[in-house]
Amino acid sequence: MHYGIDVGGTKIEIAIYDPNWQCLDRWREPTPADDGEALMALLAGLVREADRRHGGRGSLGLGFPGVLDEQGHLVAANLPGLRPFVLETALAAHLDRDFIIENDSRCFVVSETGPGGAAEGVMHAFGAILGTGAGGGAMVDGRLLKGAGRFAGEWGHLPLPAAAARHYDLPLLPCGCGLEACLEGYIAGPGLVRLHRHFGGRSASAEQWHQAWLAGEGAARRARECHLALLGGALANVVKLLSPQAIIVGGGLSAMDDLVAALPSAIAEHLFPGVEVPDVMRSRLGDASGVRGAAMLGAGMMTTA
Ligand SMILES: [Zn+2]
Repeated sequence: MHYGIDVGGTKIEIAIYDPNWQCLDRWREPTPADDGEALMALLAGLVREADRRHGGRGSLGLGFPGVLDEQGHLVAANLPGLRPFVLETALAAHLDRDFIIENDSRCFVVSETGPGGAAEGVMHAFGAILGTGAGGGAMVDGRLLKGAGRFAGEWGHLPLPAAAARHYDLPLLPCGCGLEACLEGYIAGPGLVRLHRHFGGRSASAEQWHQAWLAGEGAARRARECHLALLGGALANVVKLLSPQAIIVGGGLSAMDDLVAALPSAIAEHLFPGVEVPDVMRSRLGDASGVRGAAMLGAGMMTTA
């Protein structure tokens, strides 16, 4: 058996898989986000409960948001309670077995290139999550790309292109990471709402923007044009750096079929002759992808580069 745990800012999910990656069981608990000790005790309890329910001892992988700093502390705005701890060391003191930890967006691309994923077996792939934020991760030669600082794939914190900022007269927004005008603030769900309002719309959610766009509202159409220009440019940068065969889109915005379908031509606008647009597809495993990818990493199915 293989256990995956996805630690989010509001909930923690554990899922248990058999050797063929069929999900046997899954459940969620609220996250004690401000209390690191309680959070780690909860994780240990989830693992014990999984053993008890299924009469075994599964392998373990855990996905977290954010990045690890040089000392190994987790930098994640929605999990302040873990900040004081050297995460891997502190977890090892609570957990009774070997485990792997990885960023949740990197878990996503592992899952989507694994068995039953949208890009099963693809050796070079980029996973782009467009939800409340914009996370990402890359598979290179069939291995998860980590990089020296373990943050490879953070495309959401590439900067807003100056040409687009000027063309659409966009404000330079502060980003949660401390930088200014990161793409995430414009291309993720809340960013799309911001764009709509920037052009005079009144939506309060990406879904409301989508309804306005489907109804042909002018501000919504302008927001769509700007959003696609930014997304296409950002993903084209990823293509130039990593040359993926496939880009798998996940997160809340990936539910919009028309958005995913429009991406190849939006990306092509920013590529030069001879560079092919990769296949662009929607996540097949949806919200379950992160927890499954964590389990796959824990099972040693995917090695890392
Ligand atoms: Zn940023």
